Amino acid sequence: MENNLTFSMIKPDAFKKGVTSDILFEILKDDFKLRAIKVTMLTLDKAEEFYSEHRGKEFFERLTCFMSSGPVMALILEKNDAINEFRKLIGNTNPEKAEEGTIRHKYGTTTTFNAVHGADSSEHAQREWSFFFSKREIY
Ligand code: GDP
Repeated sequence: MENNLTFSMIKPDAFKKGVTSDILFEILKDDFKLRAIKVTMLTLDKAEEFYSEHRGKEFFERLTCFMSSGPVMALILEKNDAINEFRKLIGNTNPEKAEEGTIRHKYGTTTTFNAVHGADSSEHAQREWSFFFSKREIY
């Protein structure tokens, strides 16, 4: 079952641009089913914990300040081969390198302001959604 689930966040830049619902619509149009959804904010501490694998890199502070600067929409999504399918849908980390038609190409601006997060493995997805959802909140 876990292979069919992924974790995503629509990032603060998308809220600022007013494109959160457009992005959610693109995700649903691509046949992802919602298993959990929440709009919330990360504290700086939580953002640092969420991105702990990047601690020490030159972009870490920029990334964690940005991710705690405004609301995020946390999502648990279901589809066959969800992790890979979702990463295909969002495209390259750098929106300038993302293929045309991908969410990051359409709605992202820079590698920091890239509109959306997608987990890169089932193990990470489960760790990441437990930041946001209790068992009771997952359908
Ligand atoms: P993702 O799986 O495509 O989101 O990429 P990573 O897990 O490698 O990085 C997590 C997030 O850190 C990315 O979505 C970017 O917002 C940010 N990031 C990663 N690499 C860089 C970089 O080289 N420069 C900057 N500014 N941000 C980065």
